[in-house]
Amino acid sequence: MTTIPVLVAGSAGQMGRQLVRALAGEDDLRLVAAVDKVSVGEDAGVVAGCQPAGVSVSDDLAAAIDTTSPNVGVVFTSPPAGMPAVRTLLSHRVAAVVGTTGFSAAEFDEIDTLCREHDTPALVASNFAIGAVLMMRFAAEAAPHFGQVEIIELHHDRKADAPSGTALRTAQAITKATPAGSAPAGPEGAPSRGLPQGRVHIHSVRLPGLVAHQEVILGALGQTLTIRHDSLSRESFMPGVLLAIRRVRGLSGLTREIDSLL
Ligand code: NAD
Repeated sequence: MTTIPVLVAGSAGQMGRQLVRALAGEDDLRLVAAVDKVSVGEDAGVVAGCQPAGVSVSDDLAAAIDTTSPNVGVVFTSPPAGMPAVRTLLSHRVAAVVGTTGFSAAEFDEIDTLCREHDTPALVASNFAIGAVLMMRFAAEAAPHFGQVEIIELHHDRKADAPSGTALRTAQAITKATPAGSAPAGPEGAPSRGLPQGRVHIHSVRLPGLVAHQEVILGALGQTLTIRHDSLSRESFMPGVLLAIRRVRGLSGLTREIDSLL
């Protein structure tokens, strides 16, 4: 069986370690390189709490690509390191699967340009959990039938960005699906009314004990509809990440979210 050689950037983080464990159970995927700025020189499998992977954590992404020739690079670094990692992968013509959140619109434009320049695909997903993808899809479908929509996103207290990438993507999808006239309810500008994003207000909660959760609450005369998704552990993201690794090389340019892969 041919295997896909995979590099993981951010391999010592929560998501990176989960992915290293997940890769160990897949016959057609093979971890060839692990990159992080901590646990450098240690075995990536041991860092992830599983069997030794025979791959030492490196802090030099470009050198790791040159020495191991991965087909796919997965990025789960903390947000500030995300864009530099994507630039390095694409400029080395390594297909990128990107889970790091917090990219600006200008950075998405840059990724799109890099994909074309280097003829290499990238898939950037704000949420790899299949249930979260469906939550976004259902919210966009329901939104035109309701006058107002608000999002409450709840995450662990170490999350670096707010609002979450998932909440921003959901707000974009809802705004695109709703008539131009509908607007968030007032009073506008009151600090406790959340962040207006398009035609939606987003409220961010950060607490220990949480993983990744989101409620989309839709309101109309005399009724509300609540669509809620809960990632109860980081395992919830792995089927989506593995799917993206297997499929990304068949895509072209920049693909946002795994919706089109389902
Ligand atoms: P984390 O802080 O546990 O891990 C981040 C890792 O990146 C750390 O090990 C850190 O040392 C490493 N890092 C920092 N700078 C680096 C650099 N220059 N080169 C290589 N590695 C570097 O965070 P986490 O919980 O694993 O989340 C990582 C990212 O993934 C966040 O942006 C988070 O929002 C996102 N996330 C996305 C999804 C999704 O489905 N798309 C799901 C969960 C988390």
